[in-house]
Amino acid sequence: MTNKTSQQQTSTLAAAAQAQAVALSQAPVPRVLEIPDVLTVKDLAAMVGVVPIDVIKQLMRRGLMLAINDVVDQASAADVAQDYGFEVKAPKEQERESGSLVVSSSDEEESKLQPRPPVVAILGHVDHGKTTLLDAIRNTKVVEGEAGGITQHIGAYQIELKGRPITFLDTPGHEAFTAMRARGARVTDIAVLVVAADDGIMPQTLEAIDHIRAAGVTMIVAINKVDRPEADPERLKRQLAEQNLLVEDWGGDVIAIPVSAIKGEGISDLLDNLTVVAEVSELTANPDRPAQAVVVEASVDKSKGPVATLLVQTGTLNTGDYIVAGEVKGRVKAMFDDSGKRIREAGPSKPVEILGLTGVPEAGETLTVVPDERTARELTEKHQAESQGVAASVTLEELHSRMESGDVKGLNLIVKTDVQGTIEAVRSALEQLNSDETRVNIVRAASGSVTESDILLASASGAIVIGFNIGPEPGAATLARQEGIEIRSYDIIYRLIEDVDQALRGLLAPVTRDVLVGYATVRAVFSVSRGGKAAGVYVNDGSITRGTEMRVMRNGRQTFAGDILSLKHFKDDVRELTTGLEGGIALDGFDAFKEGDVLEAHRTETV
Ligand code: GDP
Repeated sequence: MTNKTSQQQTSTLAAAAQAQAVALSQAPVPRVLEIPDVLTVKDLAAMVGVVPIDVIKQLMRRGLMLAINDVVDQASAADVAQDYGFEVKAPKEQERESGSLVVSSSDEEESKLQPRPPVVAILGHVDHGKTTLLDAIRNTKVVEGEAGGITQHIGAYQIELKGRPITFLDTPGHEAFTAMRARGARVTDIAVLVVAADDGIMPQTLEAIDHIRAAGVTMIVAINKVDRPEADPERLKRQLAEQNLLVEDWGGDVIAIPVSAIKGEGISDLLDNLTVVAEVSELTANPDRPAQAVVVEASVDKSKGPVATLLVQTGTLNTGDYIVAGEVKGRVKAMFDDSGKRIREAGPSKPVEILGLTGVPEAGETLTVVPDERTARELTEKHQAESQGVAASVTLEELHSRMESGDVKGLNLIVKTDVQGTIEAVRSALEQLNSDETRVNIVRAASGSVTESDILLASASGAIVIGFNIGPEPGAATLARQEGIEIRSYDIIYRLIEDVDQALRGLLAPVTRDVLVGYATVRAVFSVSRGGKAAGVYVNDGSITRGTEMRVMRNGRQTFAGDILSLKHFKDDVRELTTGLEGGIALDGFDAFKEGDVLEAHRTETV
């Protein structure tokens, strides 16, 4: 670009900005506000058109002591805005929490939004009939005379009911559901909880309820196996009520449909109800934009290369589109629907299998369409660089600071206990810590060891896992490390309560970290005048300073830890020996030096 054109551009831009500024100052303040994820007191004041001190006063009335540049949480900001007579549009985060596929309201032009099919997941206890129900639903398509043909399991499928499509995630089990949520993908609009009427609520049913609740997704209960003589739907309804799920014929609002997945009975009733719930939810997306999709599953096929099943969230995916999913990029070479038919484009809520990725993306990863190969490369490189950073971890210490900054409004906990009987004791003790400012939110409380499912739930809901008299399963411990989830173990209830209380108040004892400041190798051992032995050392790296803790390492094992008695450089007493220097060290309480021992200097640092 020549200088002249760049100057011209600058001045046009300046003029445009000025024109906009004038327009803004003349325009009436809009009465409908959309509160962004993150905003400061100053931003909020500007939005509602008052001086910041007024907003600060309003917040003080709500018990929030914030300064002008402090971050306000969305809910409080919305409250204040409403006090000034503004109507507040649902914040972006709430939309996502409610399971909406709309990526972000600001990304979507409202005029272009169109209804989209609901995405349904099926959860429940093992053997309660999830797979049978998914198959039964799938078969209705054939019954209705739709082009059935060869069906293949690609991880999701779509059926059509009276001309309206419904998408089902064909991956039963809440691990898949939560794994996607843990990756940040809000994929499901409606969850069907399958409970066998002859068996009633079982541990994984409870787990599924927790997962569905944590995701904020609408639930429909399928009371399955009603054909069995032992089936007792009324008992099940009672059990559901105990979980605060009051079904409609008991005066509640939980839809519960009796079905027999194996006989295909009640399926159409279930589907009708799904359609109604979907309609009420007014699910929309903009088909008229580059696609954004979620990876449902992915693998490598021997002949086809990487194959991924995607669920388009918004926009339309076309063959030939350049795509990026985390660290993996590619171009859509071919696209198939759930019956294996080749298709050229896929709109919102459509499950498709695609070929053309250069690698296998993770389930739950978001896939986006980009303009060209170069952008794809830049994005994957950026992602690689970012993922080398530390995973966003959740620890009790950190949660307090995030609560203060308004990032989290309460402390989310997953509580596991050794026996059922302790759950209530722990729960009620924890809930007594609730006050106006802080809240303990128990996402899940159950007996049994900490499982991988607990860790996924913790990761998806930003929770800490607490084990009371119980530890994690080995797989869960590994996953917790990968996901940066803290598992805290306690065996005395008051200690647990004390820690949580202190975390809520930001008083938790600081975490300390051990730092290796330097190390030296022992080259000679000699006796000293006052008796005892000293080591003649060479400092290999860092420094050794009086006051640091010394550890004597022999063959990689620590044989002693203690303080420095004397530190010398030739004949002189010194404060410090640094890299490359030789000197003498005597330790308090240790004489048994050997040539080749490594002396490490350690310092404890507060994080
Ligand atoms: P999943 O583990 O939840 O996927 O359960 P499955 O779908 O594999 O079903 C477990 C068992 O229950 C199988 O033997 C099914 O045939 C049986 N089953 C599923 N639904 C029904 C039903 O409605 N009635 C009866 N009697 N058996 C069922």
